[in-house]
Amino acid sequence: MFYLTEQFFSIQGEGKYAGVPSYFLRTAGCNLSCPGFGAKYEIGGEIRYGCDTYFAVDSSFVKSWQKIEKSIDLIGQLESEFAKIGYLPHVVITGGEPLMYHKDPVFYEVISWLVSKNIQVTFETNGTIEIDFETYPLYKQCTFSLSIKLSNSGEPKQKRIHLEALKAIASQAQEVFLKFTIDTALVETTALNEINEIRTILPKLDVYCMPVGESRDTIWKNDRSVFYFCMAHNFRYSDRLHIRVFDTTQGV
Ligand code: SF4
Repeated sequence: MFYLTEQFFSIQGEGKYAGVPSYFLRTAGCNLSCPGFGAKYEIGGEIRYGCDTYFAVDSSFVKSWQKIEKSIDLIGQLESEFAKIGYLPHVVITGGEPLMYHKDPVFYEVISWLVSKNIQVTFETNGTIEIDFETYPLYKQCTFSLSIKLSNSGEPKQKRIHLEALKAIASQAQEVFLKFTIDTALVETTALNEINEIRTILPKLDVYCMPVGESRDTIWKNDRSVFYFCMAHNFRYSDRLHIRVFDTTQGV
Protein backbone atom coordinates (compact mmCIF):
# COMPACT_ATOMS: atom_id res chain seq x y z
CA MET A 1 0.00 0.00 0.00
CA PHE A 2 1.20 3.47 -0.77
CA TYR A 3 -0.19 6.99 -0.88
CA LEU A 4 -0.51 9.32 -3.85
CA THR A 5 -1.25 13.01 -3.45
CA GLU A 6 -1.92 13.70 -7.09
CA GLN A 7 -1.46 12.42 -10.62
CA PHE A 8 -1.59 14.55 -13.72
CA PHE A 9 -0.34 14.98 -17.28
CA SER A 10 1.93 17.95 -17.81
CA ILE A 11 5.37 18.92 -19.05
CA GLN A 12 8.47 18.16 -17.02
CA GLY A 13 9.60 21.53 -15.71
CA GLU A 14 13.01 20.72 -14.26
CA GLY A 15 16.28 18.96 -14.89
CA LYS A 16 17.54 17.01 -17.88
CA TYR A 17 14.08 16.28 -19.28
CA ALA A 18 12.63 19.78 -18.89
CA GLY A 19 10.17 20.34 -21.70
CA VAL A 20 9.21 16.67 -22.15
CA PRO A 21 5.47 15.84 -21.90
CA SER A 22 5.22 13.62 -18.83
CA TYR A 23 2.67 11.93 -16.62
CA PHE A 24 3.32 12.67 -12.95
CA LEU A 25 2.65 10.43 -9.98
CA ARG A 26 3.26 12.31 -6.75
CA THR A 27 3.60 10.03 -3.73
CA ALA A 28 2.87 11.24 -0.21
CA GLY A 29 5.25 11.36 2.71
CA CYS A 30 8.90 12.28 2.99
CA ASN A 31 11.75 11.42 5.34
CA LEU A 32 12.84 15.09 5.31
CA SER A 33 10.86 18.30 5.79
CA CYS A 34 13.27 20.98 4.48
CA PRO A 35 12.01 23.98 6.48
CA GLY A 36 14.81 26.10 5.04
CA PHE A 37 13.04 26.31 1.68
CA GLY A 38 10.63 28.64 3.44
CA ALA A 39 7.25 27.72 1.93
CA LYS A 40 4.83 28.99 4.58
CA TYR A 41 1.54 27.21 5.30
CA GLU A 42 -0.94 26.94 8.12
CA ILE A 43 -2.37 23.89 9.88
CA GLY A 44 -5.09 24.53 12.46
CA GLY A 45 -3.82 28.04 13.12
CA GLU A 46 -0.18 26.89 13.43
CA ILE A 47 2.29 28.41 10.95
CA ARG A 48 4.72 25.86 9.51
CA TYR A 49 7.55 26.03 7.00
CA GLY A 50 8.51 23.43 4.42
CA CYS A 51 9.25 22.90 0.77
CA ASP A 52 7.06 23.79 -2.20
CA THR A 53 5.32 20.38 -1.98
CA TYR A 54 4.54 20.57 1.76
CA PHE A 55 1.07 19.19 0.98
CA ALA A 56 2.79 15.90 -0.02
CA VAL A 57 5.19 15.91 2.93
CA ASP A 58 3.25 16.89 6.04
CA SER A 59 1.05 14.01 7.25
CA SER A 60 -1.50 16.58 8.44
CA PHE A 61 -2.74 16.44 4.85
CA VAL A 62 -3.33 12.67 4.96
CA LYS A 63 -7.10 13.03 4.44
CA SER A 64 -6.46 14.42 0.98
CA TRP A 65 -4.08 11.59 0.04
CA GLN A 66 -5.24 8.65 -2.10
CA LYS A 67 -4.46 5.21 -0.68
CA ILE A 68 -3.35 2.75 -3.39
CA GLU A 69 -4.05 -0.72 -2.07
CA LYS A 70 -4.13 -2.68 -5.34
CA SER A 71 -1.77 -2.08 -8.24
CA ILE A 72 -4.46 -3.08 -10.72
CA ASP A 73 -6.55 -0.06 -9.69
CA LEU A 74 -3.79 2.46 -10.45
CA ILE A 75 -2.69 0.59 -13.58
CA GLY A 76 -6.29 0.75 -14.83
CA GLN A 77 -6.35 4.51 -14.23
CA LEU A 78 -3.04 4.90 -16.06
CA GLU A 79 -4.24 2.83 -19.03
CA SER A 80 -7.30 5.03 -19.29
CA GLU A 81 -5.28 8.28 -18.97
CA PHE A 82 -2.68 7.14 -21.51
CA ALA A 83 -5.46 6.18 -23.95
CA LYS A 84 -6.82 9.75 -23.66
CA ILE A 85 -3.32 11.18 -24.17
CA GLY A 86 -2.88 9.01 -27.25
CA TYR A 87 0.66 7.76 -26.54
CA LEU A 88 2.71 6.37 -23.67
CA PRO A 89 4.31 9.41 -22.03
CA HIS A 90 7.42 9.61 -19.92
CA VAL A 91 6.35 8.91 -16.31
CA VAL A 92 7.84 10.95 -13.48
CA ILE A 93 7.46 9.59 -9.96
CA THR A 94 7.98 12.37 -7.49
CA GLY A 95 6.89 13.32 -3.99
CA GLY A 96 7.46 13.77 -1.13
CA GLU A 97 10.04 11.04 -1.33
CA PRO A 98 8.86 8.24 -3.66
CA LEU A 99 11.65 5.81 -2.74
CA MET A 100 10.15 5.49 0.74
CA TYR A 101 7.85 2.98 -1.00
CA HIS A 102 10.43 1.20 -3.14
CA LYS A 103 10.00 -2.13 -1.27
CA ASP A 104 6.22 -1.92 -1.18
CA PRO A 105 4.76 -4.78 -3.27
CA VAL A 106 1.94 -2.68 -4.71
CA PHE A 107 4.34 0.12 -5.65
CA TYR A 108 6.78 -2.35 -7.23
CA GLU A 109 3.98 -3.94 -9.27
CA VAL A 110 3.17 -0.52 -10.73
CA ILE A 111 6.85 0.01 -11.61
CA SER A 112 6.92 -3.46 -13.16
CA TRP A 113 3.93 -2.63 -15.36
CA LEU A 114 5.46 0.69 -16.48
CA VAL A 115 8.79 -0.95 -17.33
CA SER A 116 7.02 -3.81 -19.17
CA LYS A 117 5.42 -1.16 -21.43
CA ASN A 118 8.85 0.34 -22.18
CA ILE A 119 7.79 3.58 -20.55
CA GLN A 120 10.64 5.79 -19.40
CA VAL A 121 10.36 6.15 -15.62
CA THR A 122 12.16 8.94 -13.80
CA PHE A 123 12.35 9.12 -10.01
CA GLU A 124 12.72 12.54 -8.48
CA THR A 125 14.43 11.61 -5.21
CA ASN A 126 16.40 13.22 -2.40
CA GLY A 127 18.85 10.30 -2.61
CA THR A 128 18.69 9.28 1.05
CA ILE A 129 16.98 5.89 0.64
CA GLU A 130 19.27 2.95 -0.10
CA ILE A 131 17.88 0.61 -2.76
CA ASP A 132 18.82 -3.07 -2.87
CA PHE A 133 19.09 -3.35 -6.66
CA GLU A 134 19.61 -7.12 -6.56
CA THR A 135 16.30 -7.70 -4.75
CA TYR A 136 14.51 -4.98 -6.77
CA PRO A 137 16.24 -5.12 -10.17
CA LEU A 138 13.59 -3.17 -12.09
CA TYR A 139 14.97 0.04 -10.60
CA LYS A 140 18.10 -0.51 -12.71
CA GLN A 141 15.97 0.33 -15.74
CA CYS A 142 14.84 3.69 -14.35
CA THR A 143 16.26 7.22 -14.48
CA PHE A 144 17.12 8.91 -11.20
CA SER A 145 17.12 12.65 -10.77
CA LEU A 146 19.16 12.93 -7.57
CA SER A 147 17.88 16.09 -5.96
CA ILE A 148 20.32 16.08 -3.06
CA LYS A 149 19.55 18.68 -0.45
CA LEU A 150 22.17 21.27 0.52
CA SER A 151 22.45 23.33 3.71
CA ASN A 152 19.78 25.81 2.55
CA SER A 153 17.19 23.02 3.05
CA GLY A 154 17.54 23.52 6.80
CA GLU A 155 18.14 19.79 7.29
CA PRO A 156 21.25 18.53 9.14
CA LYS A 157 23.93 17.08 6.88
CA GLN A 158 23.71 13.58 8.38
CA LYS A 159 20.03 13.42 7.39
CA ARG A 160 20.31 14.81 3.87
CA ILE A 161 23.50 13.07 2.61
CA HIS A 162 23.49 9.26 2.56
CA LEU A 163 26.68 8.11 0.86
CA GLU A 164 25.77 4.45 0.46
CA ALA A 165 22.36 5.27 -1.00
CA LEU A 166 23.93 7.69 -3.50
CA LYS A 167 26.67 5.29 -4.55
CA ALA A 168 24.20 2.43 -5.05
CA ILE A 169 21.95 4.51 -7.32
CA ALA A 170 24.86 6.03 -9.26
CA SER A 171 26.46 2.64 -9.91
CA GLN A 172 23.34 0.60 -10.66
CA ALA A 173 20.72 2.71 -12.41
CA GLN A 174 20.81 3.20 -16.18
CA GLU A 175 20.68 6.99 -16.00
CA VAL A 176 21.43 9.31 -13.09
CA PHE A 177 22.03 13.05 -12.80
CA LEU A 178 22.38 15.56 -9.97
CA LYS A 179 19.96 18.40 -9.39
CA PHE A 180 20.49 21.06 -6.74
CA THR A 181 18.03 23.70 -5.60
CA ILE A 182 19.95 26.80 -4.62
CA ASP A 183 19.33 30.44 -3.80
CA THR A 184 21.29 33.66 -4.00
CA ALA A 185 22.51 33.44 -0.39
CA LEU A 186 23.92 29.95 -0.97
CA VAL A 187 25.49 30.96 -4.29
CA GLU A 188 27.34 33.72 -2.41
CA THR A 189 28.56 31.42 0.37
CA THR A 190 28.91 27.64 0.37
CA ALA A 191 27.10 26.35 -2.75
CA LEU A 192 30.24 25.52 -4.71
CA ASN A 193 31.98 23.78 -1.80
CA GLU A 194 28.87 21.76 -0.97
CA ILE A 195 28.35 20.68 -4.57
CA ASN A 196 32.02 19.84 -5.04
CA GLU A 197 31.99 17.72 -1.89
CA ILE A 198 29.21 15.62 -3.43
CA ARG A 199 31.00 15.49 -6.76
CA THR A 200 34.05 13.92 -5.11
CA ILE A 201 31.75 10.96 -4.36
CA LEU A 202 29.79 11.08 -7.65
CA PRO A 203 32.26 12.61 -10.11
CA LYS A 204 30.75 11.42 -13.38
CA LEU A 205 27.24 12.79 -13.06
CA ASP A 206 25.97 15.87 -14.85
CA VAL A 207 25.07 18.72 -12.48
CA TYR A 208 21.89 20.77 -12.86
CA CYS A 209 21.27 23.77 -10.61
CA MET A 210 17.87 25.40 -10.31
CA PRO A 211 16.64 28.40 -8.33
CA VAL A 212 14.70 28.00 -5.09
CA GLY A 213 11.14 29.15 -5.58
CA GLU A 214 7.62 27.95 -4.92
CA SER A 215 6.27 30.97 -6.84
CA ARG A 216 7.29 33.27 -9.67
CA ASP A 217 8.22 35.94 -7.13
CA THR A 218 10.70 33.74 -5.28
CA ILE A 219 12.19 32.34 -8.49
CA TRP A 220 12.83 35.88 -9.71
CA LYS A 221 14.80 36.55 -6.54
CA ASN A 222 17.17 33.66 -7.25
CA ASP A 223 17.29 32.85 -10.96
CA ARG A 224 19.90 35.34 -12.10
CA SER A 225 22.49 34.42 -9.46
CA VAL A 226 21.99 30.70 -10.18
CA PHE A 227 22.30 31.42 -13.92
CA TYR A 228 25.68 33.13 -13.48
CA PHE A 229 26.80 30.48 -10.98
CA CYS A 230 26.21 27.79 -13.63
CA MET A 231 28.16 29.75 -16.22
CA ALA A 232 31.08 30.23 -13.83
CA HIS A 233 31.38 26.57 -12.88
CA ASN A 234 30.23 24.68 -15.99
CA PHE A 235 27.02 23.41 -14.41
CA ARG A 236 23.72 23.17 -16.30
CA TYR A 237 21.02 25.69 -15.46
CA SER A 238 17.56 24.23 -14.87
CA ASP A 239 14.56 26.48 -14.71
CA ARG A 240 11.21 25.55 -13.12
CA LEU A 241 8.96 25.83 -16.14
CA HIS A 242 5.73 24.86 -14.40
CA ILE A 243 6.13 27.71 -11.90
CA ARG A 244 7.07 30.23 -14.60
CA VAL A 245 3.94 29.29 -16.54
CA PHE A 246 1.41 28.50 -13.79
CA ASP A 247 2.88 30.10 -10.64
CA THR A 248 2.15 26.98 -8.60
CA THR A 249 3.53 23.50 -7.89
CA GLN A 250 0.25 21.63 -7.60
CA GLY A 251 -1.53 19.82 -10.44
CA VAL A 252 0.65 21.16 -13.29
S1 SF4 B 1 13.24 16.11 0.39
FE1 SF4 B 1 12.09 17.12 -1.27
S2 SF4 B 1 9.93 16.58 -0.92
FE2 SF4 B 1 11.06 16.08 0.97
S3 SF4 B 1 10.80 17.89 2.23
FE3 SF4 B 1 12.73 18.15 1.12
S4 SF4 B 1 12.22 19.27 -0.76
FE4 SF4 B 1 10.30 18.51 0.11
